[in-house]
Amino acid sequence: MGRYTDSVCRQCRREGEKLFLKGDRCYSEKCALERKPYIPGAHGKGRRQKPSEYGLQLREKQKTRRIYGLMEKQFRNYFKKADRKQGITGENLLILLERRLDNVVYRLGLASSRKEARQLVNHGHFTINGKKASIPSMMVKVGDIIQVKESSKSSPKFLEIKDAATYKTPPEWLSVDVENLTGTILAYPIREQIDTLVNEQLIVELYSR
Ligand code: SF4
Repeated sequence: MGRYTDSVCRQCRREGEKLFLKGDRCYSEKCALERKPYIPGAHGKGRRQKPSEYGLQLREKQKTRRIYGLMEKQFRNYFKKADRKQGITGENLLILLERRLDNVVYRLGLASSRKEARQLVNHGHFTINGKKASIPSMMVKVGDIIQVKESSKSSPKFLEIKDAATYKTPPEWLSVDVENLTGTILAYPIREQIDTLVNEQLIVELYSR
């Protein structure tokens, strides 16, 4: 499967805004966007012009895709799925993206970024309802219990995560038991509970062209 090889921070600089891809670093003065707030590349500093309607739609799609760490094809598949569902396509899309296991691990505070969550899931540190769950794209369902594997709980990484998770609050559709490194899916999120700063309607318009 394809993956980004570009510097993670470069993606934020390309979008001209913080996408929070690097966990704690994003909230510190080490954030690359704080230090170099212009588009990467030789002509980046002078390149901001008024974008076209298409340009705006494209940027919103790219931004969302980058936030959730997906390649174009995977992202488009989520869109197709969202479009087939009843309801508002843009909202359906975000809800599907939120239900990915790597996103849920991040939202529960059991990883500092979606990227780290994906890595931890890939390495087999999580279970869903007691069964091994090592595929980041697995879709969680209401009632699912996501847990760090017993043998991983005492590793230095998860002790560090546990410390950090104490200070985080998951969104209302999730509950977390930090002491046991366990989370529960209480419901599927509604749009108001998803704090991803994107205008999903622009993505719908882009793919409807
Ligand atoms: Fe983006 Fe975080 Fe890098 Fe800042 S530190 S540029 S928010 S990924």
